[in-house]
Amino acid sequence: MAENKQAVMEELVSLAKRRGFVFPSSEIYGGLGAIYDYGHYGTLLKNNIRDAWWKHMVQYRDDVVGLDSAIFMHPMTWKASGHLDSFDDPQIDCKKCKARMRADHVLELFGVSADKQPLEFINAELDKLRATGKLKCQNCGSVDLTPAKRFSLMVKSNLGSPTDALSEENVVYLRPETCGGIYLEYKNTIDSTRVKLPFGIAQIGKAFRNEIVARQFIFRTREFEQMEMQYFLHPSMMNEAYEMWRELRWNWYLEYGIGKDDIRWYEHEKLAHYASQAYDVEYDFKSLGGFKEVEGVHARGNWDLSRHSKFSGADLSYFDEKTSERFLPHVMETSVGLGRLFLMFLDKAYTQEDNNGEVRTVLKLDHRLAPIKVAIFPLMKNKPELVTKAKEIFDTLKIDFMCEFDDNGNVGKRYRRQDEIGTPFCVTVDFESLEDGCVTVRDRDTMTQERIKIADLQKYFWEKLR
Ligand code: ATP
Repeated sequence: MAENKQAVMEELVSLAKRRGFVFPSSEIYGGLGAIYDYGHYGTLLKNNIRDAWWKHMVQYRDDVVGLDSAIFMHPMTWKASGHLDSFDDPQIDCKKCKARMRADHVLELFGVSADKQPLEFINAELDKLRATGKLKCQNCGSVDLTPAKRFSLMVKSNLGSPTDALSEENVVYLRPETCGGIYLEYKNTIDSTRVKLPFGIAQIGKAFRNEIVARQFIFRTREFEQMEMQYFLHPSMMNEAYEMWRELRWNWYLEYGIGKDDIRWYEHEKLAHYASQAYDVEYDFKSLGGFKEVEGVHARGNWDLSRHSKFSGADLSYFDEKTSERFLPHVMETSVGLGRLFLMFLDKAYTQEDNNGEVRTVLKLDHRLAPIKVAIFPLMKNKPELVTKAKEIFDTLKIDFMCEFDDNGNVGKRYRRQDEIGTPFCVTVDFESLEDGCVTVRDRDTMTQERIKIADLQKYFWEKLR
């Protein structure tokens, strides 16, 4: 396996494209910056990661309910949440080659932490570097760079008839995070589901950010999916809930094959305008050369509900029947990018190992995440009796498991292809199968093979694929 991050990333990008996981969007038109499409196996893997999150965040809990709110929301939502005034990143431009850079990322390279710092701080730090001659364009090396300025991450759109489509009055924003919808539906959720504090609302959906630089494959994209859960509670419960959710989220990573040394907590010193406490889960990406944020766990106080109450005039307070107390709940949030998790699992699973002098590339994904669970092969394509039997097995297993029928090339080649997409089991129907009613089942990780009765396959996979 490649040693340096760039080479690892190139291998992942190449595998993702070659095997139908991720394609650059609009490629025939030359692509569109930092937007990606997910192919067949990518869609399946993404759906499985999404399901794994939903199971733990909603299905396994009696205190979290689901939501699927619209991407477009009343523009006032973003005024109230503070995004219109302060959801931006510091940008610097190279005057020579016109490359754009994120000033806080540039400073980070010199060990200066500028996350969420004011522009004055950032420009003062940039000036110090300028004076030493160390501040250079990351693209062309020129020292002729602009000072940092604020660049809004909000993506604007218009709703309305074509004639007034450009009118400022019709401006709407593509949501920059999904939780806005959760706050707006918090009251309807209470009224319709009879939830009592503390309770959470979870949702998965698209979010859009006009990121200044987005060069790290699907780590940072301009259109992405977020999986967020807002846990509403009495302020006195915040510390307890915060610790509980931090532990739950940490264990979720371990549950799906991430090692405890692969992740760590990063505590934010400088907080976003809404947060009172913020930790990130960081994963040690081989393809990005170190620990990077995958998920945020934030204590948001009652900032959002108080602002939406103020801007909309709606009473968003909660009445606790037990204590007869009326108050505005506080919020504990977990927020994670689905594409970022996708890259994390790919990065972790990607393995190259020696197999009798040959390099074997295999995605060692957790069985529950693997796009295809079982691949079914007839030993030979041109033997109708083998093909019919293999199809029969496919038709039985497909009801319970995502399966694939493959009769292309020799079996060794089919194994290699299934290894590259992370299929845990391959089933081969051979001539003996027609006699003894057994097939060969090959395990992705150990490459061991065993003969299993066709009649027992379903039970076998139910046990193996949990
Ligand atoms: P970053 O510091 O990486 O820009 P952030 O702190 O702005 O991220 P949040 O606003 O806390 O991120 O968003 C929560 C999660 O949403 C992040 O941890 C990440 O997984 C995901 N996310 C945010 N922005 C993007 C993006 N542009 N592309 C993909 N995922 C993203």
